[in-house]
Amino acid sequence: MEDCIFCRIIRGEIPSIKVYEDESVFAFMDINPISTGHTLVIPKAHAGNIWEIASEDLSALHIASKTIAHALKRALDPDGIACLQLNGEAVGQVVMHYHFHLVPRIKGAPPLP
Ligand code: 5GP
Ligand code: ZN
Repeated sequence: MEDCIFCRIIRGEIPSIKVYEDESVFAFMDINPISTGHTLVIPKAHAGNIWEIASEDLSALHIASKTIAHALKRALDPDGIACLQLNGEAVGQVVMHYHFHLVPRIKGAPPLP
């Protein structure tokens, strides 16, 4: 997708702090984090939402998310990690490229919104 922000991040046209990459998955720090370590995990193949993403990409994304969640746990020792994913403007999706939020709950931090 030519103009999709996340496709442009994958192509390196927009800078990001990359935390993980494999053949089908890319992960980077959220530009406006809810908490320290807030990470976005996305498929390299553009898909707008849960209805469009290929099952094999969804599977790879979840396996990669587990690896990243382990790394976040080792790095930040959070009390927990919220996994969030929105589909459609009506529920607050802003970027129309499927993405999985990993939001650590850091010890002593205020509750997540
Ligand atoms: P949504 O509400 O669609 O689930 O969340 C989109 C997320 O993408 C937001 O948390 C927002 O901060 C993040 N985001 C939007 N544009 C950029 C960007 O250019 N770079 C990065 N790293 N994150 C972005
Ligand atoms: Zn895209």
